Amino acid sequence: MIVATPLLDLKNLTVQLNDKVILKGVDLCINAGEVHAIMGPNGAGKSTLGYALAGRDGYTVTHGQMHFKGDELLSLTPEERVAKGLFLSMQYPVEIPGVSTLLFLRTALNSVRKARGLEELDAPAGLKLIREKAKILNIDDAYLKRPINVGFSGGEKKRLEALQMILLEPSLAILDETDSGLDIDALKLVASTINGLRNQERGLLVITHYQRLLDYITPDRIHILAEGKIVRSGAADLAHQLEAHGYNAVASETTP
Ligand code: ADP
Ligand code: MG
Repeated sequence: MIVATPLLDLKNLTVQLNDKVILKGVDLCINAGEVHAIMGPNGAGKSTLGYALAGRDGYTVTHGQMHFKGDELLSLTPEERVAKGLFLSMQYPVEIPGVSTLLFLRTALNSVRKARGLEELDAPAGLKLIREKAKILNIDDAYLKRPINVGFSGGEKKRLEALQMILLEPSLAILDETDSGLDIDALKLVASTINGLRNQERGLLVITHYQRLLDYITPDRIHILAEGKIVRSGAADLAHQLEAHGYNAVASETTP
């Protein structure tokens, strides 16, 4: 019997931030081809999970394991994690004055290509590829020339992140509140871009505290995170139960 290696396998993941325990033993397994959603109230630890996986400074794993494609993430630098195919879209994208969006994207793309043993793209080739992908997301050339994220609206930042994601072609994309700040048209566009990424090899972890995004991206599995623990897991309709009854009522029912 062939047992597939899970894409992401978290066991008893315990994460501390500034001496405060935020994640209190999270178990989560995502196989290639699967889309999982994490929902939960504000302050539950959803973003902390994303940051710990990405290896952000200050997020200390005190117990447990986080295997990604068979490797322990803790043994990899944040850059190595990206090169290995982990992508985190952040809830609050950073602004970098003085660095054009185009240069930022090409640099990110080339560092990942290099790490994956691919040829780096020169300026014209990079520009061509970035423009092609930007078109899918209705991102104007003018935006690409501006400093990254500076003065961008919430929705523009999110679309730019989606662009970064389709350029980097990650094996596992973690999308943290990708729906926040998007109007309905942008939401549909970003959702269809995300759906376009779904395939047999790739996994997605969608973090959201509304069911809205999940109307467009139907997950295979939904987990409710509350106070640093997954308190319930279920199929896609769990999102509708949450929307109708609230977190407290649904989280207190036992997992079927
Ligand atoms: P969520 O994304 O589910 O809303 P977060 O992961 O952002 O939750 O936050 C989890 C908990 O960590 C919250 O109680 C929050 O107040 C706390 N927290 C977040 N950032 C910091 C920080 N820099 N220092 C201390 N506590 C923090
Ligand atoms: Mg958050």
